[in-house]
Amino acid sequence: MHHDFGTLSDIPRQGIIARYRDWLPVPPGAEPITLGEGDTPLIRADRLLEQLPPDRRPPGLFLKFEGANPTGSFKDRGMTMALTCARARGAQAVICASTGNTAAAAAAYAARAGMECWLVLPAGGVAAGKVGQAVACGARILPVRGSFDDALAAVRQVVTERPDLVLVNSLNPDRLEGQKTAAFEVVDQLAARGEDEPAAVFLPVGNGGNITAYHMGFATYATAGRLGRLPRLYGVQAEGAAPLVRGRPVDQPQTVASAIRIGRPVYGDRALAAVRETGGRVLAVSDEEILAAQRLLARLEGVFVEPASAASVAGLLKLARGNEPGWEVPEGPVVCVLTGHGLKDVDTALRAARSGDAGSADLAALEAEALEPDAIVQRLLSVPAGGQ
Ligand SMILES: *Cc1c(COP(=O)(O)O)cnc(C)c1O
Repeated sequence: MHHDFGTLSDIPRQGIIARYRDWLPVPPGAEPITLGEGDTPLIRADRLLEQLPPDRRPPGLFLKFEGANPTGSFKDRGMTMALTCARARGAQAVICASTGNTAAAAAAYAARAGMECWLVLPAGGVAAGKVGQAVACGARILPVRGSFDDALAAVRQVVTERPDLVLVNSLNPDRLEGQKTAAFEVVDQLAARGEDEPAAVFLPVGNGGNITAYHMGFATYATAGRLGRLPRLYGVQAEGAAPLVRGRPVDQPQTVASAIRIGRPVYGDRALAAVRETGGRVLAVSDEEILAAQRLLARLEGVFVEPASAASVAGLLKLARGNEPGWEVPEGPVVCVLTGHGLKDVDTALRAARSGDAGSADLAALEAEALEPDAIVQRLLSVPAGGQ
C-alpha cells in the first residue's frame, strides 16, 4: 500500500497529504487544505563543504531548503495537516502565538480553508515580511508585550475560554505529524539519487517541535524498513536563547534569529530525547556565527535564508572546525535543514551587510568603495547610513 522508492515525485508538489497520506493520521474522507507544500529541494553544497577542514569533512553535504515552501518556511507542512484536520472536525477558526512563520502559514492556510485566523504576536519581535504575509491573508493580529513565550501563555489562556478557537501551535499534534514528512523526503531524495542514508542532520531549535518531528519521521521510516539507522540529530540554539544547552529556561531570550527567540521550549524534553537517542547533541552558536553562516550560504551556494535557518549551518561549522568538542566525522551525508526563506527578514541581511565584511579585500581602492555594501544599500534604497 505504501509507495515505492523513486516514484514519489510522479506528481510534483501535490502537497504532503496527497503524497504521504498512508503515513499521516488524516480523518477518513477529509479533503486536504493544501498549497502544494513539501517536495522542497535537497541541494548539494560542495562549496560550503570545502569550508570544513579536509580531515573533518563528511562524504557529502546537503541543504534541505524549506524556504521553498509556499509561505516560505517548513511551518506549511504542519499547517496543511492542522487546518485539514480542524476543518474535517468542524472547526471554523484557528488561533496561534508565533515568532512569525507559524503566523504566516496559519493565515494562508486558514484563508484557503475559508476559516478565521487569530494571531498573537510578540510586539516588535516579528520580522516585517512575516507580518506582511499575515496581514495580506486577512488574519486578526493581537500584539502582546514580551516574548513568544508570553504570547503562547496568552493563547493557552484564551483557548480555555474560547474552545471554538482551535490551537494551531506545535502543541497541536497534527502539526508535528505534517512536519515529520520532511524527514521522509530527506531519506527518499537521498535514496533516489543513489546516495547513502543520512548520517547526521542539523536543525535550528526554538520550541523543539521540528526536531521532534524529524525524529518521529526517521523512526517511522526505520520501523517500516525504509531506513537502516537513525541519523544523529544536532539541535542548534542561539546563545542568547539556549535553554536546552543551559538546562534551564531563559526569561528574556535575545538573538538576531527571531524565529528561535524562545526561552521556554514546549518540546524541550522531547528535543533532548531526540538528540540523546540518536547520538547527536544540542549546541549554541553566537549571533555573529549565525550571520556569518547566513552570508556563506548565500555567497557560496546562492541560498538565501533567514537568520534562524543559518543556525544549522553555523552549528555544523562550529563542530567540524573543532571550536567545540563532540564531532565524530560522519560516514554518510550530512543534511542541514534550512527552515525559512531569506526574503522573510531582509532587514537583518541588509544591516549585517552594512556592519562590515564588504567582501573581497583585494579590490582596488576605488572599486572597493564602489562595492561597499553600505553605499550600495544607500543608493538602492535611499536609506540614511546606519538606519534611522
Ligand atoms: C519555527 C521555526 C524554527 C524553530 O522550530 P521549532 O519547532 O520551534 O524548534 C526555526 N526556524 C524557522 C525559520 C522557524 O520558522
